[in-house]
Amino acid sequence: MPVRRYDNWIDGDWAAVAREEPIERRSPAHGELLAAFANSTGVQVDEAVAAAKRALRRAETWSDLPGGERAHLINRWLDLIAADLERLAAIEAEETGKPIRYARGEIAWSIELGRYAAALAWQIPGEAFSHIGSQNLGLVTRSPRGIIGMIVPWNFPMVTLFQKLPFALAAGCTCVIKPSEFTSGTALEVAALAAKAGLPSGVINVVTGTGARVGEALIDHPDIQMVSFTGSTAVGKRIAQRAGEQLKRASLELGGKAANIVFADADIDSALDGVLFGYVLNQGEECVQGSRLIVEEGIARSFVERLVERSAAVRVGMPLDEATDMGALIHEQHMNKVLGHVETGKREGAKLACGGQRLVKDGLERGYFVAPTVFAGVRPDMTLFRDEIFGPVLSVTSFRTVEEAVALANDTRYGLGNGLWTKDIDKALLVSKRLHSGTVYVNTYLETAVQLPFGGVGQSGLGRENGMEGLLEFMDVKSTFVKLGKRSDALPHARA
Ligand code: NAD
Repeated sequence: MPVRRYDNWIDGDWAAVAREEPIERRSPAHGELLAAFANSTGVQVDEAVAAAKRALRRAETWSDLPGGERAHLINRWLDLIAADLERLAAIEAEETGKPIRYARGEIAWSIELGRYAAALAWQIPGEAFSHIGSQNLGLVTRSPRGIIGMIVPWNFPMVTLFQKLPFALAAGCTCVIKPSEFTSGTALEVAALAAKAGLPSGVINVVTGTGARVGEALIDHPDIQMVSFTGSTAVGKRIAQRAGEQLKRASLELGGKAANIVFADADIDSALDGVLFGYVLNQGEECVQGSRLIVEEGIARSFVERLVERSAAVRVGMPLDEATDMGALIHEQHMNKVLGHVETGKREGAKLACGGQRLVKDGLERGYFVAPTVFAGVRPDMTLFRDEIFGPVLSVTSFRTVEEAVALANDTRYGLGNGLWTKDIDKALLVSKRLHSGTVYVNTYLETAVQLPFGGVGQSGLGRENGMEGLLEFMDVKSTFVKLGKRSDALPHARA
């Protein structure tokens, strides 16, 4: 693919940024230049918010449209994305470093999320209360919150955006998106496709650049009514603080440290496959990565041996190679952080069972590849057990009783997801009830449906995406109390 050079997408058109060197994106797998993105400032944020405001004011063309008409437009846009899936998947794979097979899956899943959000636009809920007095009527209605600032990360640039964007559109909001400076390509591409599909200009705007300049300007803009953020817990806290000072809503999808609990009575083959998939998918750069294996003592040794065998068979390679299972980490600094965690693990006394090194042979020399890594004998006080590593690193801890398994899984400040594997239905349901997380996977991992809300508890965030809950996050609630007929005076003595 030739180098892609992008401007911002504002008010239905490309908008160049003068006098700023663009941000270059080189492949994390082979170092070649892939793309250049506009290095924007608050000036472009102001322009984009102004466009989003004009689109909101032209209510008859967007937010006041019947929900079904917005749904038609969103579906037409998704049709264009589907027709362009191969190209978008290649952009996603190259910029992130992930395998093309999974990038295709990511775009397809984003479309699926969009279809469901569009369907919800038909049935935005409201309530009428007619049994509150014979002459009274109560109405609860919902309206779009307004202009939403969306800030998304680099690990799943499309899915993290599509857990927000189509839901906000279905609700009738307009938006300004700040993608990650490493992976802005697909957000810009889909914004341009929205114009082709007939979405009014200004409904979707994309401003690229750094978090410090573009992200903060977006949060601070007085016309932004809500910030919808996906990213690290550290940045999420800063955003919550900033938004809090302005009494602005912030929904936060943050980090995780999910556990995969394997009981001895599980289907072991399935559990091995799920645990492996759970820790290597997306090179481990996955907010619900199953980064802690909590395995019953009686099977721990053989389970880890088989997991190590399977880990060695994972094909690490170039993002555009159809045979690749695991690609490159996002950038050098992140790779060094992951390798730093490996060193800390060794120093703290965990047993390295496989991997632990950068891969630099067989064509991988110029990329940021790390071998699938398993540490056995990990104690809850170790850094490996506690910190989000965001790389293909699994820590293994064993347990004896159900109580102990639940306590270990819940021994984290995060609470995004957890998994458990058992053939005992009572155990499955009782344990899933007791796990502190927004999602629990039973006898599978990282599998879900668009109807199910997604989000975290604790340090994993605030709010929910997807499902009806995901739509309602972007809506304000209004209560209207109506008096039918003659009202009895509250102050009869004051009547003239
Ligand atoms: P990050 O927090 O560094 O960056 C996320 C986005 O915020 C980027 O667009 C970045 O430019 C922007 N940003 C950075 N500093 C900012 C600031 N001061 N003000 C405003 N915006 C700012 O995260 P990342 O490294 O891109 O992504 C990895 C993290 O994202 C991991 O912690 C992962 O768990 C989390 N994540 C969570 C979910 C979820 O749904 N819960 C999904 C994917 C990723």
